[in-house]
Amino acid sequence: MNDCVFCKIIDGAIPSKRYYEDERMIVIADIDPKAAKHYLAMPKKHYKLLSEMTEADRNDLGVIFATIARIAPELGLGNGYRLVINQGDDAGQTVFHLHIHIMGGQVLDFPDLKKA
Ligand code: AMP
Ligand code: ZN
Repeated sequence: MNDCVFCKIIDGAIPSKRYYEDERMIVIADIDPKAAKHYLAMPKKHYKLLSEMTEADRNDLGVIFATIARIAPELGLGNGYRLVINQGDDAGQTVFHLHIHIMGGQVLDFPDLKKA
């Protein structure tokens, strides 16, 4: 039994606001947005971590990035956006199904994390 919350979203077992879908990926709204617009792009295939991907899988990731760039204007991000992947504990990853945060809809400051 796969207990992954994002796999359940992909399967439709957990509802989500879906902005984009193809055979490889979905884009949903983040349930707890940290920016005026905050989406999550995720591969349908379950990877726990970025570091779990093989060379072949990385090709998939390249297409996902290209798709994000293509649909960004439709997401209301024509003026710019930021992509973030949290990998592992130091980055505060909480959901262990690889996902890319897409944030924008406002001018984003760039925090100096050394001061945090
Ligand atoms: P991360 O810290 O990179 O693992 O980010 C996980 C993100 O998933 C957080 O921004 C959460 O707000 C978001 N999240 C968790 N559960 C859901 C859900 N059911 N639907 C949409 N976003 C979610
Ligand atoms: Zn999963």
